[in-house]
Amino acid sequence: MKPWKIIFLIFLVVASVMVIANEPPYLNNKGYIFGTYYNISYKHKEDVQNKIEECLRTVDKSLSPFNKQSVITAINNNTDITPDSLFTHVFLLAQDISSKTDGAFDITVAPLVNAWGFGFKEGYRVDSTTVDSLKQYIGYKNVTLKDGNIIKKHAQTMLDCSAIAKGYGCDRVAQLFNSLGIENYMIEIGGEVVAKGKNNKSMPWSIGINKPTEDKEGTNTQLQEILHISGKSLATSGNYRNFRYENGRKLSHTIDPKSGYPVEHNLLSATVIADNCATADAFATSFMVMGLERAIEVCKENNLEAYFIYSNEDGSIAVHETEGMKRYHK
Ligand code: ADP
Ligand code: MG
Repeated sequence: MKPWKIIFLIFLVVASVMVIANEPPYLNNKGYIFGTYYNISYKHKEDVQNKIEECLRTVDKSLSPFNKQSVITAINNNTDITPDSLFTHVFLLAQDISSKTDGAFDITVAPLVNAWGFGFKEGYRVDSTTVDSLKQYIGYKNVTLKDGNIIKKHAQTMLDCSAIAKGYGCDRVAQLFNSLGIENYMIEIGGEVVAKGKNNKSMPWSIGINKPTEDKEGTNTQLQEILHISGKSLATSGNYRNFRYENGRKLSHTIDPKSGYPVEHNLLSATVIADNCATADAFATSFMVMGLERAIEVCKENNLEAYFIYSNEDGSIAVHETEGMKRYHK
């Protein structure tokens, strides 16, 4: 080999090593927020966990009914308050999804969620009289946004954004990352996910869908399917983690706003892929309310992809997915 060729080769190797050495690392941050865990991986030159936590606290201060100082707590207590733009944005999105799901998703379901013992207040024994009396305060059309203020028809109406806040939290962290120039990331809060770019193996991010076996502690790691996601959001709603038994009946934490009772049907979990995570989160919950048949129609009407796990009459587990979902696990 001619000497200049050797010099050129050495130069090439050194240059490649320098490029690789300058690549920022993949970082991982974990923590606790909204009563659940977050797990965030991203490729960046520095750790930004402080900024992530600040971002999530902003969402908590607006939307968490467990936070006594939050905007939503003030609204639920009928304290005179002008909600911040974060709140009004999520409120309007929630209202929009309520109308697209014919009220299956409804953040005014709070008094019923609380009564059934899955909310931000102590639950109590519920009978049909309680359900009937609380139902008059439920209904997304009873609450409006007027001149920047939330107007309630009934003072007893309360709001619960638990079925959209985790997804929205993921969206906010994604916005933060985009503003910081972070292009490869996976943000997960309590099972809701936003993924962009590539993982540390230069592949789309792998997201597991759990097998819907009863699992209160959240320790089940058995997966039904693995999806490969990039540039999309994903949320799963299921009745296998948050439920309890009463007189042999399984009571789920998803409440049908129309009947006033915890939902009871054969749909075990619904995983939704959408362009933003708040939308995926809210639709996933609504699907658990409306059941498989109607959920399939709503997916078509709203351009959503979904993966449903349900039980057959003989107790066996089956899967139905939208056509477009298949490309995420091929
Ligand atoms: P998970 O991801 O744990 O299944 P979800 O996103 O489905 O959680 O949200 C469930 C929570 O949403 C319940 O604990 C309750 O606070 C609230 N919720 C229950 N029923 C409804 C409903 N029909 N519409 C909107 N929120 C609901
Ligand atoms: Mg949800």
